[in-house]
Amino acid sequence: MKIERISEHVWSLSTWMIIPIHIWAVEEEDGITLVDAGISMMTKGIAAFVEKQLGRPLRRIVLTHGHSDHVGAVKGLLEKYPDVTVYAHAIEIPYMEGRTAYPRRKKAAQSVQPGLARPLAAAADGKLAPIGGLTPHLTPGHSPGHVVYYHGQDGVMLAGDLFTSKKGRLRKPMPMFTADMAEALRSSEIVRKLRPKRLEVCHGNAVLNPADQLDAYQKSQGGIGSGSGISLQR
Ligand SMILES: [Zn+2]
Ligand SMILES: [Zn+2]
Repeated sequence: MKIERISEHVWSLSTWMIIPIHIWAVEEEDGITLVDAGISMMTKGIAAFVEKQLGRPLRRIVLTHGHSDHVGAVKGLLEKYPDVTVYAHAIEIPYMEGRTAYPRRKKAAQSVQPGLARPLAAAADGKLAPIGGLTPHLTPGHSPGHVVYYHGQDGVMLAGDLFTSKKGRLRKPMPMFTADMAEALRSSEIVRKLRPKRLEVCHGNAVLNPADQLDAYQKSQGGIGSGSGISLQR
């Protein structure tokens, strides 16, 4: 497992399993927040990193979404640290618990034990409450309840599977595993809104100043809302 400190508070932990898989550890006052949990073979490495390298308690795991390559270490980490809390967007939970099939999937599949993930706290207007230094933002499309986590102080966006990347350029999420590509493209507007200095994706390397290439990205995908007839207002 490769470990890299990418900003004052954020670390990237990555491995390779056919494709690159990145997760992130965020230093908070009360301990460590893990963003996504990769695949199960990362469990030992994550625990060793948190305990030995950071020497801080693991407090919570926040998920961008429930696909199996993002939740693999949840089970093992909870066996080791039973007090860790797991969060995902309320919209995502029925899919990851296997109660509903993800769009474009024939069968429901359980990636996280039912009742384990708590919904991210939301205000009446749907805005998600910050968790320490991270603010979650709903960015559906790749999956119905996909969220990105933005570390405002460090200017780092942890974007999960909202994009992939290649040679520092934004690329679309993997089509085979994406529920609604047009919606994912509309959700990419979050980059224009927040203008992160650095964007991190699960399956690819960092993209610096991603807002500068958003127009080109959207154009290469046919533009947002083009031909889909779907309103941009939600
Ligand atoms: Zn995914
Ligand atoms: Zn993924």
